[in-house]
Amino acid sequence: MLSPTKATLNPGRLFIGGEWRDPVSGRTFESINPANGEPLTTVAEGGAPDVELAVQAARKALTEGDWPKMGGGDRSKLLWRIGELLLKHRDELAELETLDQGKPIFESSKIDVPFAAEIFFYYSGWANKIEGDTIPARGGALCYTLREPVGVCGLITPWNFPLLLMCWKLAPALAAGCAVVHKPAQWTSLSALRFAGIAQEAGVPPGILNIVTGKGSVAGAALASHPGVDKIAFTGSTETGREIMRAAAGTNKRLTLELGGKSPNIVFADADLEAAARGAAAGIFYNKGEVCAAGSRLFVQAPAHDALMEALLSRAAKWPLGDPLDPKTRVGPLVSEQQLQKVMGYVEAGKSEGACIVTGGRRAQVGDGGGYFLEPTVFTGVQNTMKIAREEIFGPVLSVIRFEDFDEVLRRSNDTFYGLAAGVWTRDIKKAHRAARALQAGTVWINCYSVYDPAVPFGGYKQSGFGRELGREGLDAYLQTKSVWVDLS
Ligand code: NAD
Repeated sequence: MLSPTKATLNPGRLFIGGEWRDPVSGRTFESINPANGEPLTTVAEGGAPDVELAVQAARKALTEGDWPKMGGGDRSKLLWRIGELLLKHRDELAELETLDQGKPIFESSKIDVPFAAEIFFYYSGWANKIEGDTIPARGGALCYTLREPVGVCGLITPWNFPLLLMCWKLAPALAAGCAVVHKPAQWTSLSALRFAGIAQEAGVPPGILNIVTGKGSVAGAALASHPGVDKIAFTGSTETGREIMRAAAGTNKRLTLELGGKSPNIVFADADLEAAARGAAAGIFYNKGEVCAAGSRLFVQAPAHDALMEALLSRAAKWPLGDPLDPKTRVGPLVSEQQLQKVMGYVEAGKSEGACIVTGGRRAQVGDGGGYFLEPTVFTGVQNTMKIAREEIFGPVLSVIRFEDFDEVLRRSNDTFYGLAAGVWTRDIKKAHRAARALQAGTVWINCYSVYDPAVPFGGYKQSGFGRELGREGLDAYLQTKSVWVDLS
């Protein structure tokens, strides 16, 4: 194993009201390095009393102090500074993310951290362009709208892209003028804590960003049900999304939910098969398949099946598994032993339901053997009814499904309660656009997969959630409209 060089592994404390503090309970838990199963550091286990303090600090900062006095232009500069600092500290943040999450350093340094910075640059541009309308209303009244921040927002994020998904929420929240309480995933809290220092350095006023680490069922649940929280922005599993809805219902708070997926990636026989194989491999092996929009169901039209499989297997060999700190590694360990066992359970289910493993399927030994590595795995002969074709696996496990014609593949692709993303590979432009219209998914990639841009909205259809992140819609989620009437008669 390569050893950490730049990452700062201080014991984590809570960040509330601009200060570092111990949790009221005094309890901590260990953050584990998934590459070797060893503890990295301790993290504070926040609970309901800490969430209470954080919400109070956020409310105070929203109504008193510098933040409400700052105009959009000042917030714009602040967001830009955060983006610059993320790039300045890129190596350290990337290493921290890799140590804590297990994602290859290649990805954390070349994708996660730079993309997080880009999100801040993008929303920096919006912060000074938040405008209402003047509306010709009845009776000749002067009627105009103000676009105001929603208020105190609870941001609850998963462990697969810890820094990045926090930034997807935080940047538009700050651009809109909100204050936030962030609850990172228990397994991956370290980059959020390091980020707090960056936010301070950039000049985010005390109380505008608060971070309460801890368990979802305790700290997360306290945030979701808190009457002083105006909105919850949640990314995580569909099941937890339902719990959050129930908790939020008690106070009618606003909600945006980015949930799970079982995304179809459809390869028609007339596609560029080399490109499709490259996209299919990236669609499932990127971030070791711990991706909500992973192209986990690969539909291949029968005449292209064998050629595509051959290309895919040679592509899979270009995703070497290994120490995530090694820049040559493309597949790191899964985030935890629990996640590894869950994914291995799906591998067993696939075998027992009669699907055929053409590569991978076993726990891999890397270094001293204590890490949570799974070989990149491809199943063929998968039927829609099998567990591995229906449930979100969240690991590097691909289910390949053969199909015959257009209508059939669209019907089978949509035969899921998820609707996050889909891919279509074809040289026929009409077929591509017809498929894009018919697919029930929040994102459709044509002749590409897993591409993102801060300006392009992302979110789910069906049970993959509601509301959009990124782009203008991502900003709207943190704003509310006030109509002002002036009698001129
Ligand atoms: P999870 O639902 O277990 O946890 C997500 C977050 O919610 C964590 O911070 C967790 O501590 C917290 N939480 C758990 N129980 C809670 C409760 N009762 N009340 C409040 N908060 C609670 O998800 P995970 O295992 O961390 O992440 C994997 C899931 O996230 C997958 O299903 C994946 O598809 C989904 N995901 C979706 C997107 C998207 O944009 N749609 C992106 C990434 C991940």
